Amino acid sequence: MALSLPAHPDPLAARLHASGLLPELAHGLGGPFHYLLPERFDANLAAFRTALTDAGVDGLVYYAKKANKAAVFMDRCAAADAGVDVASLGELRDALGHGVRGEDLVVTGPAKNDRLLCVAARQGALIAVDALDELDRLLALNGERPVRVLLRRHPSAQPGSRFGLDEAQLHEALARCVAAGPTVRMEGFSFHLSGYEIRPRADLAGELVELCLKARALGLQADRISIGGGFPVDYVPADDWHAFLAEQGPEHYHAHKAFTAADFYPYHSPVAGADALRSILAARPGGTGATLAERLRQSGVTLLLEPGRALLDRAGSSVFRVQGVKDRAGYGIVTVDGTSLSLSEQWFASEYLPEPLLLTARADAAAGPYPACVGGASCLDSDLLTWRKIAFPARPRPGDLLVYPNTAGYQMDSNESPFHELPLPPKVVIDHPADGHRPRWRLDR
Ligand SMILES: *Cc1c(COP(=O)(O)O)cnc(C)c1O
Repeated sequence: MALSLPAHPDPLAARLHASGLLPELAHGLGGPFHYLLPERFDANLAAFRTALTDAGVDGLVYYAKKANKAAVFMDRCAAADAGVDVASLGELRDALGHGVRGEDLVVTGPAKNDRLLCVAARQGALIAVDALDELDRLLALNGERPVRVLLRRHPSAQPGSRFGLDEAQLHEALARCVAAGPTVRMEGFSFHLSGYEIRPRADLAGELVELCLKARALGLQADRISIGGGFPVDYVPADDWHAFLAEQGPEHYHAHKAFTAADFYPYHSPVAGADALRSILAARPGGTGATLAERLRQSGVTLLLEPGRALLDRAGSSVFRVQGVKDRAGYGIVTVDGTSLSLSEQWFASEYLPEPLLLTARADAAAGPYPACVGGASCLDSDLLTWRKIAFPARPRPGDLLVYPNTAGYQMDSNESPFHELPLPPKVVIDHPADGHRPRWRLDR
């Protein structure tokens, strides 16, 4: 029996799916496409800001741009005076071009090239320095205004991480900042942890607050810390998720592919998004003493966040048209008009588990479950959008649509490629007018 993992019900998406707009777009665009719901981005951003306010903490939210290339999210950041986390000259230009101010950018990423450092410094962006030689190149720029830096801390709890400065390097970096005098404004420290846990983030944040106090004793500004991103997204209900993890095995996948629980993103999180920030702020770094929120307040330290995926929660989905269906022993293979390059998780020895929704105009749509995997329109045997045998309510037919839910965070475009000369799926921005009329659409660029 196929295991069911539908995404959480989403009234806004349901309204769009019922409007008849998606088949029209599939017809007009002639291929797969992504739709974006920017009002969700606005709401997620507002929720992070409310969590900061409720905790009485001074904070700034920077959207981690790498999670989605769409222009509309830059527009929303500019309109809401939010910051953007960029890691390349292209991302920096894009953010500026959509109206985000240079001083509202934070530039992350390792060994940033000289061109990026130079433009970032001229724009007054905050630059998270990852290595001593990078700091030297930055200090050598000799611009008119002081360069704004954060020093990125190597996380001792993740010794395998290639990012950040260890204790000795941090010590040396502080000395170089002091020696550089007014050419540099050392504003504080940063980290970005892999994984989605609360505890290590609170612990390391506590450490960085202490580091700020030490740096101030050296005469440096040190009044902010960035705790990066990694706020989890809750895609599916708890019961389905736990049943899935307990029962899933090779028999549930095409070609008997085997996954272990550790291969999957944690698609259910009891505490997600802005609530995860609340938990981090309420935690006691090191397990005792004041909460992180209290320590930030007492030390006058501003908290910077760089959420990517969490700001995009439910802000977009990916739509493919069924091109063909064939039967195998006990299940089917549905082939769609796009590839798994538009569903990035498939390229990390993992699987995007929130299941695709079948949109069909047929009368017998509930004809009985039809288990099928979903393949892409390429010549790669491994190009599957879904290895799992999904229990579709009926045998899909050519022309039906499959909607992969909640793909705006990393799924839709981070691995996209015009492989086979297939065009990249366009992004369609959907606006829902307040007067309740049918949703309106426009292309993202
Ligand atoms: C990728 C990244 C983020 C965003 O991570 P999410 O998991 O999408 O929240 C934030 N900061 C840095 C430095 C990153 O590399």
